[in-house]
Amino acid sequence: AHLIKSLPKAKYGGRHTVTMLPGGGIGPELMSYVREVFRYAGVPVDFEEVPIDPSNDSNEDLEYAITSIRRNGAALKGNIETKSLSPNVISRNVAIRNELDLFVNVLHCTSFPGIQSRHSDVDIVVVRQNTEGEYAMMEHESVHGVVECLKVVTRENSDRVARFAFDYAKRHGRKKVTTIHKANIMKSSDGLFLAVCREVAKQYPDIQHNDMIIDNCCMQLVSNPHQFDVMVMPNLYGSIVSNVICGLIGGAGLLSGRNYGYEYAVFEPGTRNTGSAIAGKNIANPISMMNSAADLLHHLQLENHAVWLREAIDKTINVDRIHTPDLGGQATSMDVVKNIITFMQAKTKN
Ligand code: ADP
Ligand code: MG
Repeated sequence: AHLIKSLPKAKYGGRHTVTMLPGGGIGPELMSYVREVFRYAGVPVDFEEVPIDPSNDSNEDLEYAITSIRRNGAALKGNIETKSLSPNVISRNVAIRNELDLFVNVLHCTSFPGIQSRHSDVDIVVVRQNTEGEYAMMEHESVHGVVECLKVVTRENSDRVARFAFDYAKRHGRKKVTTIHKANIMKSSDGLFLAVCREVAKQYPDIQHNDMIIDNCCMQLVSNPHQFDVMVMPNLYGSIVSNVICGLIGGAGLLSGRNYGYEYAVFEPGTRNTGSAIAGKNIANPISMMNSAADLLHHLQLENHAVWLREAIDKTINVDRIHTPDLGGQATSMDVVKNIITFMQAKTKN
């Protein structure tokens, strides 16, 4: 992982400092569970917490958050709600990714054997362009009643994300990369993305490459997800495809997503939900944030702790089957967290 390992990390006296952006809805409670697990397991990570007030239209909090991530190199993040619909108030989530040039989002989607879902044995890696496309945040009303939104596709960003996808496939012994697009309609923008992916594919003769239109891709995913290996796509399709796959294997509460650039890494739940309706009820599934925390530990090269946390998640969900209501179970968030802590404590003592 040449791209990832070279990233700077704040480390003083053997302890890491990481930015924590709790976000809104279930974000703060999920973060408190991560703190608890880290404390009981003796994980040498200190969090610098930066709350962002969504009702405050100024961007002061946002700027402080970005400064903190620049200093620490890495962050753990909940979803930040954008309450205002005013075009002057930008999505902080998008702003953070764009500002820090976190040009790729990676979701490794694998089935949980202990969860009943529409398909089993799914193992797909979604590599998503994370900073442009429809998320360039360039919308305007040109004349009254006519709104234009610029979808931006650049050769440079398409090339970086395509290279990331093929490198990932190579490093992880995967066989195929599928480019997802709508180049039949958006001939110039998605056409460029597809053309660049085809160019990059030529440099990886050992990896198969094919492409698929986003509409067909959604149908293929729900009917036969096993045909996919690594997928690479522009930003908006990435959001849709990630949600479809998460739905196939058990919903929003399970998987994590990783945002990388050349300089910084931000870890957050895969489908980026705020979960306002279930906040404060002790029913949110903590697993997606636990998986994000495991990704963070791996990134910090705290490999033992990362492996133990992944094992704890596996045991809790697949063996002990402690499931929150979103998975059809009756367990509380705290039941899940306690089980993880018990496992982690046993590992740390040995
Ligand atoms: P958004 O933030 O995109 O509006 P929501 O917060 O409405 O998304 O979440 C989408 C759905 O996923 C909701 O039904 C929500 O309850 C569910 N959800 C999201 N995260 C979790 C979680 N960690 N545990 C259980 N359900 C979740
Ligand atoms: Mg919502």
